[in-house]
Amino acid sequence: MQRKKAVIDTAIARADRDQGLLLVLTGSGKGKSTSAFGMMARSLGHGMKVGVAQFIKGRSDTGEEGFFRRDPNVTWHVLGEGFTWETQNLARDSETVQRGWAVAREMLRDPSLGLVVLDEITYPLKYGWLDIASVLDDLAGRPPMQHVVITGRAAPDALIEAADTVTELRDVKHAFRAGIRAQQGVDL
Ligand code: ATP
Ligand code: MG
Repeated sequence: MQRKKAVIDTAIARADRDQGLLLVLTGSGKGKSTSAFGMMARSLGHGMKVGVAQFIKGRSDTGEEGFFRRDPNVTWHVLGEGFTWETQNLARDSETVQRGWAVAREMLRDPSLGLVVLDEITYPLKYGWLDIASVLDDLAGRPPMQHVVITGRAAPDALIEAADTVTELRDVKHAFRAGIRAQQGVDL
């Protein structure tokens, strides 16, 4: 136990830098977005300003949006409205996502934001609507103390490579498969 404590103490003493972090929450298990919004609550609790960009297909009225939008330190954008994912109209989808990313990029250039949540951004990357190289450029150019949390299944390797902290959530069991629909407060 004493040896173990010494190892841990050394590791703690070595971690003495502060830096804006890039976090990726990926995998097919439930809890990616809710974890991001948990960090958002922490940040707000410390008086930080937070920006959220949700790249989702359509608007669903989530509890987190209703809750956090009331906070004057929160900027919240839903950027997926009008996506045409089912129509296979690549040009139009790509244009919609580009416009959405321009909004996200503004947040990544705003040093007053201590945390930026890019929710479900992995899909536009995966489908090639958004160029991974330019996204990585924008992330790299953000203010040095700004934290960014990215969520979404199937995060591209290049994103995982660029991130500081990556967690893959594993789907062990989900109530949906037992025929239970999405529950308010748990799933939305
Ligand atoms: P949450 O928002 O609950 O943290 P998530 O961000 O990890 O979930 P998404 O892929 O964004 O997962 O899906 C969001 C919605 O789909 C939520 O209502 C969530 O409960 C549900 N969901 C997440 N994972 C699964 C799964 N493995 N099977 C079925 N439904 C899921
Ligand atoms: Mg999610």
